[in-house]
Amino acid sequence: MRTSPTFWNPERWLRRGLQLTVIAGIVFAALAPIDSQSQEGVLNLYSARHYQTDNALYDTFAKQTGIKVNRIELGDEPLLQRLKSEGTNSPADVVLLVDAARLWRAQIDGLFQPIQSKALDERIPANLRSNDGTWYGFSTRARAIVYDKARVKPTDVDTYEKLADPKLKGLVCTRSGSHPYMLSLIGAMIERNGEAKTEEWAKGMVANMARPPRGGDTDQIKGVASGECGVALTNTYYWLRLVRSDDPKDKEIVAKVGFVWPNQATSGTHINISGGGVAKNAPNKAHAVLFLEYLSSPQAQAYFANGNNEWPAVKGAKTDNPALAALGTPKFENLPVSTIGKNQIAAQRILDRVGYR
Ligand code: FE
Repeated sequence: MRTSPTFWNPERWLRRGLQLTVIAGIVFAALAPIDSQSQEGVLNLYSARHYQTDNALYDTFAKQTGIKVNRIELGDEPLLQRLKSEGTNSPADVVLLVDAARLWRAQIDGLFQPIQSKALDERIPANLRSNDGTWYGFSTRARAIVYDKARVKPTDVDTYEKLADPKLKGLVCTRSGSHPYMLSLIGAMIERNGEAKTEEWAKGMVANMARPPRGGDTDQIKGVASGECGVALTNTYYWLRLVRSDDPKDKEIVAKVGFVWPNQATSGTHINISGGGVAKNAPNKAHAVLFLEYLSSPQAQAYFANGNNEWPAVKGAKTDNPALAALGTPKFENLPVSTIGKNQIAAQRILDRVGYR
């Protein structure tokens, strides 16, 4: 059998080897700068914030710094799951979550790393951040009470505690008790009133339900407007979204529903935060810190207020949101949000015992 003279030609193979080396070199040279550039000019953001108005917030950071923001938006649970399964290979630089209960969960799961930032320590009040330098709150929201103006007197529903009064039997609506917004509220009540009293309260809430817990906060407000619920709990930005809406249907809802700041004569209205920290394995840690500092800047703080109707975490930050301003400045609860997060396990146990779904 005749072999191809070229196939066995050692000289040809030496040449081919050299060619390949040169090609590999060219490819490597072409790839290397792109790779290092992508590390230099990129921030990978994992966000559980679910507000359209946030686009402008991230675009401004990109414009100011030249750092491209790659955003992955997921619900809190899937987001935390993804971070855990990615482990040390995770590209996440910054993780943003809503609610202190979730931030605390991410903290104890070791998904953040502690950072040092003079700007953040100066700007973010101590009660709105973690106790170990891992996460910071950037905006605050309050848990308010809304009621049917035709059926319910505001003085009968002006504290969280009153919602469990037998007087309100068949009138109370909430979202699932296991939702972090509820777990944090109950966590705060445990902190203020103790576990036994909070369990009594939860039992009273279950006895007063107009319907089994379901839907989000906006659904509770709509339930009040439709007459299905007499009183409900909602985060303030959902209420303000309806107040600011031009949709005639939303205007109709707002006209029927009254708004109350809970616990003004006692502990103050329960507040929570949206916040974030630097991911444990952040490939671009310097960008991540820069981004968090940006979120505490006057410009970003105004975005939270004007876009999503939240209060700036930074004291004295200027806002331009007449609807938010019109709500006034109520007395807010003065508990460290890190404590509220920690109490969510006890809160869930209470809910299980009293059958608060
Ligand atoms: Fe929300």
